[in-house]
Amino acid sequence: MTPPQARRPIVAANWKMNTGPADGSELARAVAAQDLPFAQVDVVLCPPSTGITSVAAAVRDSPIAIGAQHVYWETDGAFTGEISVPMLSGLAAYVIAGHSERRQLFGETDDDVRRKTLAILAGGLTPIVAVGESLDQRDAGQTLGVLRSQVTHVFELLTPEETAASVVAYEPVWAIGTGRNATPQQAQEAIGWIRDTVAEAQGSTTADQVRIQYGGSVSPENCEELLSREGVDGALVGGASLDAAKFATIVRAAAP
Ligand code: PEP
Repeated sequence: MTPPQARRPIVAANWKMNTGPADGSELARAVAAQDLPFAQVDVVLCPPSTGITSVAAAVRDSPIAIGAQHVYWETDGAFTGEISVPMLSGLAAYVIAGHSERRQLFGETDDDVRRKTLAILAGGLTPIVAVGESLDQRDAGQTLGVLRSQVTHVFELLTPEETAASVVAYEPVWAIGTGRNATPQQAQEAIGWIRDTVAEAQGSTTADQVRIQYGGSVSPENCEELLSREGVDGALVGGASLDAAKFATIVRAAAP
């Protein structure tokens, strides 16, 4: 029996609503100038929509990939303020779907996340599907059920190939932007549950292939112990990704 191929870690920077076209390109160039282990780790920058074009141009000569923070699932039409997957053509390779800020502040539902994920895959891009429990849910012992439900909702409709090509970000809501990261043990346990859920929906070969990141207050101080855990395939980084040197430290920690 052939052993499963090692999963390539992926570290993505979620700049959220920070940086415009000019300072975004400057930050991207600063990241590209760091000593990064591109041979071992996929590196993705997700600027706000208005910065995608300039940031993509700034890193054109580097292996850094671009991600969008949001898309709408329709391809075009009367959807004021939205951008679609085809509009990212030639610019972005990844799109975040289901970030907890979008779920909490903009009312995105599991159905929306599913539609977005299907549209991202149909357009040939890679979704980074974010899932995670709130503090109340964790305290009530509901973490496994919440993750199971969020993951199943998105992945049950995908083919095994689409699932294997996707990235999942385990992001406990209570750890995002709070400075309170999950312990390495909590992160590893939850990621194990997510992988088990994917295995139930799509089989264990597919579950072995899907990359599952941890996200939530990842920093240069905690990245080593979080990212060295078996099954943690990199990170989705918010605050610390706005500093090129800090982000680079996290990327290096993800290298096997
Ligand atoms: C995020 O935005 O996905 C995130 C994890 O943010 P932070 O690293 O700031 O907690």
